Amino acid sequence: MTNNQKKQFPEGMTPLGKSKFTFSCHPDISCFTHCCRKLDLFLYPYDILKLKKRLGITSDVFLERHAGVVKGLNPHFPSVMLQMAANEERTCPFLDANGCTVYEDRPSSCRMYPLERAVDRTSAGNRPEEFYFLTSHPYCKGHEEDKEWTVKEWVRDQNLLYYNAMDDLWTEMDTIFSKNPWQGEGHAGPMQRLAFMACYNIDGFREYVNTHDLLSRFRLDKARKRDIKTDDEALLKFGYDWLKLVLTGNPTLQAK
Ligand code: SF4
Ligand code: SF4
Repeated sequence: MTNNQKKQFPEGMTPLGKSKFTFSCHPDISCFTHCCRKLDLFLYPYDILKLKKRLGITSDVFLERHAGVVKGLNPHFPSVMLQMAANEERTCPFLDANGCTVYEDRPSSCRMYPLERAVDRTSAGNRPEEFYFLTSHPYCKGHEEDKEWTVKEWVRDQNLLYYNAMDDLWTEMDTIFSKNPWQGEGHAGPMQRLAFMACYNIDGFREYVNTHDLLSRFRLDKARKRDIKTDDEALLKFGYDWLKLVLTGNPTLQAK
């Protein structure tokens, strides 16, 4: 598709562009926390990284306590969902009487609502183009509030820029996984389990990297090596590069 061609969007979905929308969510609204119940919330790798740090637990403990591994849209790689409480309301485990207890580190889906984001990676010039759409739950009264936003203002207010950047890196990985790169091992084979660990269980992957002295096999500048050793986000990005190299042969890392 070129820039001159009109983009096609699903029926009823019109990108917001620069137009404004009204929305406000606050503790005095009658529907406060309704959206934190009975929901199917997919977690992305960066969500888990932020939440496990917030809770002061390791990623494997987080997965065990708070996540379920499910079959999602990708036929060749599982998805991870937040495990809701086993009560009638299926409340989010991070919800209490005052609202979200992990607010500053809430998952990207919680930040994005009432918007949805789509990225077109086929745009001319290979620069991905992003589009935002307004969505609404029937019970959500936030849309009846007067406060006006542009998409840009909402993205900034919800601290979404970095989440989007990390989620885009994840989407690239998910696309690779969707092409069944498991080299005949089938699902849940050693390579797929390793990929799952690199993406979702960062503390397990750190142990793997140390045990196999993985960093010493590649040319990495000093600053990056130090970051990978000390910072989960840098390790996650290294994990993505390493998986791309191993699964697709894409020279994302230079071997020594
Ligand atoms: S339902 Fe809408 S307005 Fe109500 S708490 Fe959730 S996001 Fe906020
Ligand atoms: S993480 Fe917070 S905002 Fe998201 S569903 Fe749970 S309680 Fe609600």
